[in-house]
Amino acid sequence: MLFKKNKLKMRDKLIEHCAVFGVTCDDIGYSVSQELYKGLMALQHRGQESSGISILQTGGKIFTYKKTGLVSQVLNEKIRSHFWGNIGIGHNRYATTGASEFSSSDYIQPYHFKNNVLEFSLAFNGTIPVYDKIKQKLNEMGRVFITNTDTEVIVQLLASIALETEDWVEVLKRTSIYLEGSYSLILLTPEGDIYAMRDPLGFKPLCIGELITEERNLYYVASESCAIDAVGGLFLRDVKPGEIVHLSFQDDIHSEIILKADRGALCQFEFVYFARPDSVIDGVSVAEARVRLGQYLAKADPYLKDPKFKENAIVVPVPDAGRSASVGYANAAGLPYAEGLMKNRYLWRTFIMPGQQKRKAAVQEKLNPITSVVKGKDVILIDDSIVRGTTTSQIVKLLKEKGGANAVHLRISCPPIISACYMGIDFPTRDELIAGRAQNLFGENFIEEIRKKIGADTLIYQNVNDLVKAISLREDQLCLACLTGDYPLKSIKNLAEIENSIVNSRSLQQ
Ligand code: SF4
Repeated sequence: MLFKKNKLKMRDKLIEHCAVFGVTCDDIGYSVSQELYKGLMALQHRGQESSGISILQTGGKIFTYKKTGLVSQVLNEKIRSHFWGNIGIGHNRYATTGASEFSSSDYIQPYHFKNNVLEFSLAFNGTIPVYDKIKQKLNEMGRVFITNTDTEVIVQLLASIALETEDWVEVLKRTSIYLEGSYSLILLTPEGDIYAMRDPLGFKPLCIGELITEERNLYYVASESCAIDAVGGLFLRDVKPGEIVHLSFQDDIHSEIILKADRGALCQFEFVYFARPDSVIDGVSVAEARVRLGQYLAKADPYLKDPKFKENAIVVPVPDAGRSASVGYANAAGLPYAEGLMKNRYLWRTFIMPGQQKRKAAVQEKLNPITSVVKGKDVILIDDSIVRGTTTSQIVKLLKEKGGANAVHLRISCPPIISACYMGIDFPTRDELIAGRAQNLFGENFIEEIRKKIGADTLIYQNVNDLVKAISLREDQLCLACLTGDYPLKSIKNLAEIENSIVNSRSLQQ
C-alpha cells in the first residue's frame, strides 16, 4: 500500500507553525495595538488557529490578550482600543497538537510569565525537538509545567536563568546554549525592551524595520518583511542567524551575534511555499525565487524538446501555490499561461479534514476546473509540492473528468519530499509521505510509481541542484533535509535514523 492513512490528520500541505511580530515606539502617548493588528494580519498565512498580543502599558505592566480564531476576530476593534500601550509583541499560531489542547489558552501565545520577582512575555516560532531533558532538569529544580510544549520549557529556562542576572542579553545568551533547534523568538520585558533572537542556523526568518517620522520613531521585528510593509515601515535587514537584536523605545536598535555556526539552514520551503511572495528573506525576494523555480523546472523538462508535446499545451497553476512558478515555467517554455482552476477563497481550513472521504469532498468544494480553458487541452499542471498525494490525485481527476482535459502533465517546483521534518513544520512521517514510502518500496523507479498512483500522464519534479540555484542562496545556507535526508541538527540525525529503520522494516513486510 502506497498511502498510509493517518486518521487524526489528513492535511496534504505542509504547514508553518507560527508568526511573531513586535513593535516599540518612543512616544508613550501612542498605542501600538493598531500596528500589532496590521502586522499579524500580514502574517496570517503562518498561523490561523489562534492569535494574541502582549502590550506594555504605562507604569510597566504587561497585559496579554489571546484567543483562538483569525487575527481579525481575535484583535477586533474593541480589543484594539482596550489594549493600549507604546510597546508590544504578537503571535499567530498554527497548532499541531490535538484540538482540545490548542483551544486551551495555555497553549496560545504570547506566553506571559509572571511571579513575584519576574515578569516577561515571549512569542516563539520554532521547535526544540529534544526538549525533554531540559524539562526534566527544570522539573528537578522545582519548576512546574502546565503544558507539554517546548515554548513553556524555554519560558521556564529563561525564568531560571533570569534569577541569576538582570541582563536580558546575557539571559538569552545562556538560554540559547541549551536550545538545539529551529527558532525565531521575541521577548517583551516590563522595562520596555524587546529582544529578538534567531537560532544559530537561521531555520526561521526574522527581520527588523523602522518608521521614523517627525512625531515619533517606531521599530519593528517580524517573521517576514511583508509585515513591516503592512505597517508602512522601512525594512532594514534580516536578523542574522545566532543574533540577538535589542529594540528599545528610548534608543535605536542594538544587536550582537552570540552564537556562530559553520553553516546556515534556512528552511527551503519558505521560498517554495510558506512565505508570502512579497517578502524578502535573507536578501532573496520570495516572488522572484518562485518564478525562477518555474524557469528551472521548464529548462530541465525533457518533454519540452518535443514540438508535438507543446502543440496543444497550456500551463495551469494549482491556485494559489503554483502561480509564480507557473509564470516562470510558461515563459521559459514559450507556452501560454492559463488560469484553469478556480479556487473558492472563502473556504478556510478545509485542509484539516479527519478522513479520506471528507478530504475528497473538500477538494471539490475548494477547486473547480474552468472547462472553457482546459477542455481538450494538454494541461501542464504546476504545483509546489506533493506531500501525501491525495489532493494532487483529486485535482488531476477533476481536470480530466470534470474539466475535460485531454491530458494532465504534472510539474512540481520542489523535489520529492522523502523525509520527515523535525524542525517545526507540520509534517507527516516518512511512512506517510508518498515519495518517502514509494522510494522505500520501488527504489529508483519511485517517481513513475507516484505518477501512476496520482493518475498524471507525465510527472517531473524539480531537482535539488536547480532548487538551490533558483533560491540563489548557497546549499550550505539552506535546510534541505526533507529532500535529502541530511539533517543539519545532530540531535535530529538520530531520530531520523530510528524512523527510517522502522519504515524500511515495514516496507519489507508489506
Ligand atoms: S526538513 Fe524541510 S520543511 Fe523542515 S526545516 Fe528543513 S527544509 Fe524546512
